[in-house]
Amino acid sequence: MSNAYKNFIAGQWQDAASGERFDNINPADHSDQIGTFPKSDQREVDAAVTAARQAYKSWRLTPAPVRGDFLKKVGDIMVARKEEIAKLMTREMGKVLKETRGDTQEGIDTAYYAASETRRLFSHTAPSELPNKMNISFRMPVGVAGIITPWNFPMAIPTWKIFPALACGNTVVFKPASDTPATATVLVEILAEAGIPAGVVNLVHGSGSKVGNPIVEHKDVNLISFTGSSSIGKDIQARAGAMLKRVSLELGGKNGVIIMDDADLELALDGVLWGAFGTTGQRCTATSRVILHDKIHDKFVDMLVKRAEKLKVGNGLDESIEMGPCINEGQRGVVEEYVEIGKKQGAKLVCGGKRPEGSQYAKGTFYLPTIFTEVKPMSRLEQEEIFGPVLSVIRVRNFDEAITVLNDTVYGLSSSIYTRNVNQAFKAIRDIECGITYVNGPTIGAEAHMPFGGMKETGNGHREGGWQVYEFYSETKTVYVDFSGKLQKAQIDTEQV
Ligand code: NAD
Ligand code: MN
Repeated sequence: MSNAYKNFIAGQWQDAASGERFDNINPADHSDQIGTFPKSDQREVDAAVTAARQAYKSWRLTPAPVRGDFLKKVGDIMVARKEEIAKLMTREMGKVLKETRGDTQEGIDTAYYAASETRRLFSHTAPSELPNKMNISFRMPVGVAGIITPWNFPMAIPTWKIFPALACGNTVVFKPASDTPATATVLVEILAEAGIPAGVVNLVHGSGSKVGNPIVEHKDVNLISFTGSSSIGKDIQARAGAMLKRVSLELGGKNGVIIMDDADLELALDGVLWGAFGTTGQRCTATSRVILHDKIHDKFVDMLVKRAEKLKVGNGLDESIEMGPCINEGQRGVVEEYVEIGKKQGAKLVCGGKRPEGSQYAKGTFYLPTIFTEVKPMSRLEQEEIFGPVLSVIRVRNFDEAITVLNDTVYGLSSSIYTRNVNQAFKAIRDIECGITYVNGPTIGAEAHMPFGGMKETGNGHREGGWQVYEFYSETKTVYVDFSGKLQKAQIDTEQV
């Protein structure tokens, strides 16, 4: 018997009314089942929202620094359970231990940052235009937050949303991705263990259509924070928009690295390998395009292919493994489809392009690190998010062409330039249309206290992480206090002054 996980509603671990369950398996070893999870629907969403609405009454009045003390405790428990969480995460979604430890650490950093933010949550005071009058503003929570997350950062992404939501005084209904419900359950367990009152955080397992949809459309859910694909994000924005809900979207990417002819090629090589094949290319910030200066093109491609061919693919629980499997059969199918598209559109396959051979790979959804060169700007391989270990190399003649190619996609999440030329670096920082630009570093590596997010179809303008996310999770209240003892009329009584 494998673990029978539950929903967490109103402080109680409970099954779904449907009585049905779904499986969660290890993508590196399909014989390893992590557990079964309740297939929930509208009924559990309704119960969770009711509990969150009820708990909101007292949570919003709990002093913010006291809310912060809970979050500090959450961070402490995560520290103690870090290794256990990392192992579970590797089992349920396949990325290697080094990365699942990092994913957990990002949650820990976010907990401590959120705890400290509860002693800031600054607002403005400003002078009044009238005498004996004071103008103040402060933050209020928004209400019940609906939180819907993807599977590729099963700990970090939920914490980016849940911790600031709680810090600001909101209560939460959380639906994790159905590929990674176990890590999400541990996170909620920890929140409960830290003593966060019943109903403040509720967890509902299930599908996007049966659980995600009802959260988005529930009249008592005041805001939605969603990370996932652009197509579902657009749909959520439209439906939540019709109800005038606040929505934060973090969506797809097609991130590029520019490598100029003066770059430190060894440094760039390490960055490209880590960016492209870390998490099997299944990061929203994954490097999926290398924009290479003609002068160093052939040399760099040689270096890149030699190293990529040697990457050790396998079960991420083995510390020597460098790249795990694709998350599931469907996602590997997408990768295979794009490899065919690349070949048909005339790109040159120089590495991988197939599943690894050998019986040790038979029980998982593995795919080899894959590189295409001579990829044409605006071709499908160059434009569309693949979310797998497929890297496209594009040849350019100069800096301006590199920037044009980098910007010419619908996405605008992460980007990078390798160069030793300071002027070129600053021009790139100024001209790249992305929410994140790295100089002499890979496209991945966000830190918890800096704003994270993208431009164009990567999102709708909000940011996660850093100080900005606290604005998303709070309303501004403006207060005028008139201590003059008489009626003073703004804009009218000011005329005589
Ligand atoms: P997905 O869009 O398939 O699913 C994301 C979540 O939405 C899941 O929990 C899913 O169950 C839920 N969902 C599905 N349909 C829904 C609906 N109709 N209503 C409400 N919820 C619904 O994405 P995924 O496959 O889990 O993750 C991969 C995608 O996420 C990629 O496109 C990737 O770029 C993106 N991503 C973006 C960021 C970022 O910060 N920009 C970070 C990680 C992943
Ligand atoms: Mn899984």
